[in-house]
Amino acid sequence: MLNRILLAGALFCGTATAQVEVSLSPWPAGARAALSLTFDDAYPSQAAVAMPLLEARGFRGTFYLIVDRLFQRGKYEDLPSAPLADWQAGFRRGHEMGSHTWTHVGLDTVSAVSMQEELRSAREALEGLFPGTPVTSLAYPFSRADEAVMQEAARYYLTGRLGPPPEGEPPDNDPATARLIGLKAFFLCTGEAPQRWNHAADQTLEDGGWLVEALHPIDEAGYCEVREEDLGVHLDYLAGLGGRIWVAPVGQVAARLAHWRETRLHHTRLADGRVQLELDGPASEDWQLSFANTGSWRVLDSRGQTLPLTATGDSLRFVWPAGQLSATIEPAGITAIEALSWGQFKTFFLIPAP
Ligand SMILES: [Zn+2]
Repeated sequence: MLNRILLAGALFCGTATAQVEVSLSPWPAGARAALSLTFDDAYPSQAAVAMPLLEARGFRGTFYLIVDRLFQRGKYEDLPSAPLADWQAGFRRGHEMGSHTWTHVGLDTVSAVSMQEELRSAREALEGLFPGTPVTSLAYPFSRADEAVMQEAARYYLTGRLGPPPEGEPPDNDPATARLIGLKAFFLCTGEAPQRWNHAADQTLEDGGWLVEALHPIDEAGYCEVREEDLGVHLDYLAGLGGRIWVAPVGQVAARLAHWRETRLHHTRLADGRVQLELDGPASEDWQLSFANTGSWRVLDSRGQTLPLTATGDSLRFVWPAGQLSATIEPAGITAIEALSWGQFKTFFLIPAP
């Protein structure tokens, strides 16, 4: 699908020779980064406590369910989950139900046949219990996966969540390069101050990355339990960022990223000095384009309507509406276009006349 935008407008350059950086952001309008709140192991407190906490701030989470635990079978005979109806109600309110396999076994410790069965049958069972949406998100039990496990997981899921990265690496995922079937996680655990979690969100915002937070029970005994009060402080902080960080379930973020990675922005310098941009890729999303180092630009769509621009720092952004067929930029005096690492970073530079 080819979407064409002819951006029309006057380029006013404060510093006459500064190149203008044009970038296609992976995130929705207003957002500079993404964050997913994920919950493992189907603890009862996740449906009873975490869901209402999230919903009070307009957030939805990803819940990685263990099929055996939902039915108190196998090693979960004495470890109840929330009633199935509560998970289903949460699903209908927009939370994502992901897979944490059937029995919660280390997938790299069992035979290839069992590993396959854990991945495939859990997805099928969950899609039966939560009909209408494919189950695309997986969390590897114990964060364990080798290459064989990830390759098999990729047959059934779009994403697979691993554990935290090695010490010293940033905790968030790079939208351009992260392997979706091997996502890094940021664990929230007992005894940590919520300021530590807020700091990770700040760093993600700075990186323009995607932070996948991993939680377990809330005010309930279990692995890495956190207090409701502390989680509330963290969620209030995220809500206070006013949409600059996009909080959404893993499946939603991953689907948008996959579209973004497939999208190309073709640029042509027209004989009259204008630059025509054509967006080539899935047309199902609104995309935001930003221009850094501009003075003031005017952007018109194909019908001659001015598109609203948002100024932040030295950059201007506008939203390329889904389904829009064409529009134009008219930055007078562009002498060259440099496509620097466009494929990976979705960025190129316009070089104005000196
Ligand atoms: Zn687990």
